[in-house]
Amino acid sequence: MPQYDYDLFVIGAGSGGVRAANWASSLGVMVAIAERREIGGTCVNVGCVPKKLFVYASRFQDEFAAAAEFGWTLEKPTFNWASLIANKNQEIERLHAAYTNRLQKSGVSIIKGDANVIDAHTISVDGVSYSAERILIATGGWPFVPDIPGKQHIVTSNQMFFLEQLPKRIVIVGGGYIAVEFAGILHGLGVETTICHRGHKLLSGFDEDVRDFLAEEMAKNGIKLLFNTDIEAIEKLDDAFDIKFSDGSKISTDLVLYATGRTPHSTGFGLEKLGVEVDNEQAIKVNSNYQTNIPSIYALGDVTNRINLTPVAIAEGMALVDKLYGNHLKPVDYDNIPTAVFSQPSIGTVGLTETQACEKYPDIDIYKTSFTPLKIPFPVRLKKP
Ligand code: NDP
Repeated sequence: MPQYDYDLFVIGAGSGGVRAANWASSLGVMVAIAERREIGGTCVNVGCVPKKLFVYASRFQDEFAAAAEFGWTLEKPTFNWASLIANKNQEIERLHAAYTNRLQKSGVSIIKGDANVIDAHTISVDGVSYSAERILIATGGWPFVPDIPGKQHIVTSNQMFFLEQLPKRIVIVGGGYIAVEFAGILHGLGVETTICHRGHKLLSGFDEDVRDFLAEEMAKNGIKLLFNTDIEAIEKLDDAFDIKFSDGSKISTDLVLYATGRTPHSTGFGLEKLGVEVDNEQAIKVNSNYQTNIPSIYALGDVTNRINLTPVAIAEGMALVDKLYGNHLKPVDYDNIPTAVFSQPSIGTVGLTETQACEKYPDIDIYKTSFTPLKIPFPVRLKKP
């Protein structure tokens, strides 16, 4: 008789958890995965996938505007938000089925419900107990919203994917990935869009040229960028909101989106009681083998707050399973991880920024070039020398 119900019990069916479960099961490991929401986690449900569908939707406006110059005659196009949401939901449901199917085919037990870690080898899901030799925490993160008066009036990216209707105006607070991506989406869909960022430039941590270029292009497109803002409160009016700044000024809007980072989801399901160590941002501390201070408990992906990107969580899932049950092929290499931001224009980067390169290597040559896209409206093209 085996000592435990499962060899590996994964909590959280997002990108990292699902990959670890499938991979382990394919190596003959007895695996269960618990999820209280939909299979697929942030990326499939309220992240990468629906975001990209929204980005595609938002690009048609410019295409329609340019179409006549390329010989097309169009009726005046109209946009229907409800139809986009319905089609997006259908695609996400297709992915739920595909993910579920794949897990089932791999032989993973899918346990729907709220998981609680009871001790180093016991998990309870909605009151039913399971034992496991190892427990993997892959619970991801959750939008962080700073404490400000009127916080209850705002939405986060979680709600943006299910809005009943598009606002006429939106203020987006933050200057990171989610802020710039949603700004492009909403502006493209015809929403009057303002970004309020506490810093003096968008996308901190990115190369300065990229940051400057993106801000210029967004402003050229008609997105209003307010930098060095300090929001004091958000007040609800009858049918709008006022955002009050610390200098006494205010602006009105129909919707306020906070995109101010995400907090690792490491509390509220038993880890505190067990003494699993977290850092001061609630990220679960792990060693290079994704092991916490409790030897049978592992963690990976956004809950460890290292590099919060889907392909990284997937790579971590593969590396962990390989280390525990496979051939110890290769650990994840955290250097030079590429990243893409689906702003408009979109950004792709890999490696050091110029600032980092200059700090690391005192004697470097810098090459920089820019391109004029061929696909620009004819009137603009004809004016160019
Ligand atoms: P980011 O960390 O990218 O950006 C957070 C922004 O909020 C920063 O501009 C930050 O300012 C600002 N901010 C933080 N705290 C406060 C505060 N208290 N008051 C005002 N502003 C604040 O987080 P996002 O929420 O945009 O995205 C979360 C993560 O999700 C990303 O880090 C990324 O890892 C992932 N993601 C990846 C995507 C992709 O790969 N394309 C797309 C979307 C998300 P400051 O710069 O001054 O710190």
